[in-house]
This record gives sequence, C-alpha cells and structure tokens, in this order.
Amino acid sequence: MTSAEQQNWTRVRDRLRAEVGDDIYMSWFARMELEGSEGETVRLSVPTRFLKSWIQSHYAERVLACWQAENAGFSRIELTVRSSIIRSAPPKGKSAEPPAVHRDARESKSNGGGDLRPGMALYESLGGSPLDPRLTFETFVVGRCNTLAHAAARQVALARHGEMVMFNPLYIHAGVGLGKTHLLQSLAWTGNVTPDRKVLYLTAEKFMYGFVSALRAQNAIAFKEAVRSIDVLVIDDLQFLQGKSTQAEFCHTLNALVDAGRQVVVAADRPPSDLESLEERVRSRLAGGLVVEMGPLGEELRLEILKWRAAVARQHHPGFDVPAAVLAFIAKSVTHNGRDLEGALNRLLAHSKLTANPITLEMAEREIRDLIRPQEPRRVKIEDIQRVVARQYNVSRADLLSSRRTANVVRPRQVAMYLAKTLTLRSLPEIGRRFGGRDHTTVLHAVRKIENLVSTDNALAEEIELLKRQLQE
Ligand code: ADP
Ligand code: MG
Repeated sequence: MTSAEQQNWTRVRDRLRAEVGDDIYMSWFARMELEGSEGETVRLSVPTRFLKSWIQSHYAERVLACWQAENAGFSRIELTVRSSIIRSAPPKGKSAEPPAVHRDARESKSNGGGDLRPGMALYESLGGSPLDPRLTFETFVVGRCNTLAHAAARQVALARHGEMVMFNPLYIHAGVGLGKTHLLQSLAWTGNVTPDRKVLYLTAEKFMYGFVSALRAQNAIAFKEAVRSIDVLVIDDLQFLQGKSTQAEFCHTLNALVDAGRQVVVAADRPPSDLESLEERVRSRLAGGLVVEMGPLGEELRLEILKWRAAVARQHHPGFDVPAAVLAFIAKSVTHNGRDLEGALNRLLAHSKLTANPITLEMAEREIRDLIRPQEPRRVKIEDIQRVVARQYNVSRADLLSSRRTANVVRPRQVAMYLAKTLTLRSLPEIGRRFGGRDHTTVLHAVRKIENLVSTDNALAEEIELLKRQLQE
C-alpha cells in the first residue's frame, strides 16, 4: 500500500466517523481495513461475514462517497472478509483475527468443541443473568390470565435444537408482579436442559451493560458473534433498554437472530407499540411475531399460588400452619400482584416464628392490612380511550384519527387526547403519533383546551368524569 493510499484512508475514516457518529462508527467500521486500490476500485476488508453484509446493505454508498470525496476517480468498493485474505497471505502486523487454521477448525467442529465456537469466551463472560431456582414451570400456576403465554413459553422451551420456530419473536407483556420473570426463567431452566441448546436469559440492563462494556473493551464484534451463537435469546424488562447505540445494537441482534431462525423471547410491562423510546422499525419487528398479554391474576389463581407457597414454606418451617380460611382471605383481599401475595405469606411466617402464636384470621387481617390496597388502577390503553370516546360522541375511531376538522369530530378528538394524557403515562409525542401522526403541540393544545373548559363547563366536566370511570373500571 502506498503512503498516499494510507493518507487517503485516514481521511476517509475521519470523514465516515464524522458522518455516521461515534457509536455507529465503532459498531461497524472500527475494524474495517484498507487492502489497497486498483484503478477505479478500492479494496476494503472486515473480519466477519456478518459485518460485510451489513455494511454492504446499509453503508455501501456512503463509504464510496467518502472515497470519492478524496479521489473522484473511484467508482467501486470491493469488500472482503479478512480471514480469506489471511489464508493466502501471512497475517500482517497486529491483526486481531485468529489465523486461518483456527477458523477452519471452528467451522468444521460445529458440535462439541465448545471453546471453539465463535465468541464463546465472551458468551461465558457475559454469562446471562442469574436464574432463581424457584422460578420453574413446576411452580408456575396456570390460569385464565396466562394460559396462552404459558403454552407459548413451554413450546419454545421444549423445542429441539434446529427445530423450526413458530412465532418469532415471542413478546410477553404484563404489569408488575404478574409472572413475566417467573415465566421467562422457567423457559430458560427448561430450555437449557438439552445439552446442545443454548438459552441465554438477560435482563435489559445486563444486555446494555454487556454491550456497552464490550464496546469499551473494543470487542464489539466478539460480542455480536457471541450473542448470535445462542439458540434462544431471552430478554426481560425490555422497557428499560435505553440509549441510541444500545437500541441500534438490540435491533441488529434481533434481526440477525430472527433471520437466522433463532428464537427471541422478550418480556416488557407494555405492548410493543407503547415502547416509546424504541424506533418504529424495532417496535414493528417486535410486534411481528406473537404478542401475548398476561392479565391480572384472578382470585382462584391467587389462591392456588398461595396454597402452593404455603406448602413449600411448611417444608422448611414445620410449625407454619395456615388455615384455609386465612389463605382464602388473602387471595380475596390482596389483589392482582404476585409480589404482594409473597409478601403477605412472608409476614405471616415472620409473625408465627417470632411470637409462636397460631395463625388466625384476626392476626392475618392485622398483619397484612397495608397490603390491601384499593383496587390498583387499571392500565388504560389509548385504543380503549379512542373506542369509548368514539362511542360516546357517536363518531368512528377513524374520524378521531383523521385530519377532519369539523366541530363534531374536533371536540371528541380533544377529549380523547386529554384522557390519553391524564389516564396513561404516554408522552405528548407518543399520543400525537397514536392520533393519526399529529404533532405534540397539537396534543398539548387539546389538553389545555379541555382543562380550561372543564373548569367552567359543568356538563363537560361531568361527561369526562363518566368517561374516566368507564375506562378505569
Ligand atoms: P413480573 O416479572 O411480571 O414483575 P414476577 O415473575 O417477578 O413478576 O412475579 C412476582 C411474584 O409472583 C413471584 O414471586 C412469582 O413467583 C409470583 N407469580 C406470579 N405469577 C405466578 C404464577 N402464575 N404462578 C406462580 N407464581 C407466580
Ligand atoms: Mg420481572
């Protein structure tokens, strides 16, 4: 390579970096190298096939344009995977790629040679989030609210290596304490029983932390390969995934896995369409598989969970006897949330250990009083608001989303936006998007307008109270 070529290359890199930003540059171009140029062709190389195809499909023109800015004579970029070059010539200088021999060994030894699978060392160090041994399918109680989610999770867990996936990604959403983590961890335990299958369970935080630190350590490529060497990727609490570059990486990982026929399972506290911080294309990819909601735990199910937990507790604490009436009382009064059920039983256990008094209904009432909350507010959805408001004012939902500006649609639309702002946690831009792609200032205007009207117009205030009550019960 001539020194003129080298200087050009340095400038091209700087230009590229300035154009795409540091994050993208580090993810995709940090290990791109110049091999040389001939006539109108620039030859570049990258260490993996995945990088090559990604750059070709997303950045080919941009890379060429950067070269043309240095030398208008170039008209073509040729991108190769570095290992095949190494095979014909001795590795030069500080190449981080292992010699060709190793690569061959890795590829022919697809089974058994664990250490030789690409990115395996990093997979081990990434290690997944710890699994709680109590959270298994055996201890997961199935009821009306979670039948479908449970069946889907089991199916994924029991699929054999290489078996066709039926729904991908599998997306499970539910409010706090309704069993998402329990179900996902059950899946991971069961899925990992088969020796040739790798199920990796990660919290979104762990995914972020793993990726960010991998980037800092300059082995993003190894991380990518590691993530792609698994059969099932399970990500819990996706709503916590934050940061542009993390999201970009999540999106690439998701696409790569799904396209390669690997299973992705995700849990979050809201449906994909409500993951506001994610880009539209990620949301739609997530919604493109099977989306299942788990509802609040019904009373019967709560009682089952309690019975089961009390029985387990009794194995460790023989004196812990909870009368059926007490279990029934807890199931009835501690509503919705699995965590509070657990908390209630722990209170009784602590009390009976500390005082050695038998557990009675009176004692239970006293101990768990603060866990008995008025019904938790229901999760109100924007669709529900639109449906209820449309019915109330006798317009269609399409009217609410349309750009029509006649008075009989404008007011209901403003009311619906106002309710969306006050009854959900959605941001103004998100609400605008869900009302036919309106600007957030339009939403703000609607909210202010209705706020003002409500303070003077009693009839409207009452109407809105009624709508709120309908939506929340
Ligand atoms: P989430 O992740 O949705 O917030 P968790 O999975 O952490 O909820 O569940 C909270 C608690 O409720 C855990 O102790 C869990 O074992 C229990 N739980 C929830 N749903 C069930 C169920 N269907 N069967 C048994 N236990 C459950
Ligand atoms: Mg959880």
